[in-house]
Amino acid sequence: MSAMARKLLVLNAGSSSLKFKIFGLNPFAAGMGGMFDRIGDAANCTLKASAPAEAPGSKGRKWELKIPAKDHVGAMESIMDFIKENVSSAFSREVVAVGHRIVHGLDLSQPALLNEKTIDKIRQAAVLAPLHNPPGLQGIDAAQRVFSGVPQVAVFDTAFHQTMPPHAYMYGLPYDLYEKHQIRRYGFHGTSHKYLAEQAAEMLGKPLSETNVITCHLGNGSSIAAVQGGRCIDTSMGMTPLEGLLMGTRSGDMDPAVVLHVQKQLGLSVQETDTLLNKKSGLLGLTGSNDLRTVIEGAHKGEPRSALGLAMFVYRVQKYIGSYTAALQGKVDAVVFSAGIGENSSLIRGLILQPMQAMGLIVDAAANDATVGGRQGDISTPTSPVRLLVIPTDEELSIAQQTLQVTG
Ligand code: ADP
Repeated sequence: MSAMARKLLVLNAGSSSLKFKIFGLNPFAAGMGGMFDRIGDAANCTLKASAPAEAPGSKGRKWELKIPAKDHVGAMESIMDFIKENVSSAFSREVVAVGHRIVHGLDLSQPALLNEKTIDKIRQAAVLAPLHNPPGLQGIDAAQRVFSGVPQVAVFDTAFHQTMPPHAYMYGLPYDLYEKHQIRRYGFHGTSHKYLAEQAAEMLGKPLSETNVITCHLGNGSSIAAVQGGRCIDTSMGMTPLEGLLMGTRSGDMDPAVVLHVQKQLGLSVQETDTLLNKKSGLLGLTGSNDLRTVIEGAHKGEPRSALGLAMFVYRVQKYIGSYTAALQGKVDAVVFSAGIGENSSLIRGLILQPMQAMGLIVDAAANDATVGGRQGDISTPTSPVRLLVIPTDEELSIAQQTLQVTG
């Protein structure tokens, strides 16, 4: 195999999906990416993929194919057939490393080379992430069958937040629960927050170690992090992704006694309460839609619940920016907006930022309106004491870079 052909594969397995992205290593460049969706549902199982505009041969081509896959191993095999046909027939020999996005890594603070010990740790963490880690393990199993002998690396959503100090990650519960059951705050979206902090330092022209930022990853799932000199010191999600901001279908912060009350008064089981808080709450529960675009439309039409959902979403983000400004002792170089909402909605950014002028967050309306649809930019006025940055997140790229740091 020529050095030119060496490739890295990034995999992100969900409960019924398997996302993939190929990276060329000589030179390092993103290649085709795609997603197998509705795995296990033979009638609707689809493989969608697209090649980057600059890819030789396939130039921006898009594919959508109906292919049945009964499980993640079947999906992985079909992805391999598809890549061999459309990218390179020698693909299985060209892949020199595989990087997996794994949601929960307990106290692991670095990407981990996969072996029996690290896979066991991911299994242990499944107690705290029952919806997320088992699919990750299925993705690992599928890739190990296809690429036997190729080094594989787990990149954890929790890892970047491991630098949080105990006063930020502990709950006010009996200490035993932490020692015996690992109940503490872990934080998620870490790969995205890490990438955003690094990109922000680059945009500001400062060394990462001297840069303080508040990174807002606002999508269907949303979280905010306070990053001091490249190290996370606090983040809004907790032991699970339920804590923090108001999200598409998750409640975010609330009095935990509400859980006891609904179980007692409404007779909800543990499973039903879990579904209520994670899948039926947030914007969906308040307004009927988990899509902020629909909520905005509703608010514009004068629907009171949509207006309420919108106001609550905005207010929670403002509260976290305020508290993380305090956590960073008032020394904030930039506030960063990213993910589906943060990258695309100048309206939401404006609603968040306009009332925060007195805190040194001064938004430039024209720059804000112009920085949408995957554009990167500074949306603050030249005199704003705090820079306001929009940075499209790229978790796959970060996973690829972190995988290479482990495999060399
Ligand atoms: P996920 O957490 O699923 O990765 P994304 O980061 O893709 O989510 O964000 C998806 C969300 O972004 C959608 O639910 C939608 O509400 C929101 N979104 C996308 N574009 C816009 C827009 N122009 N205005 C407001 N919200 C938007």
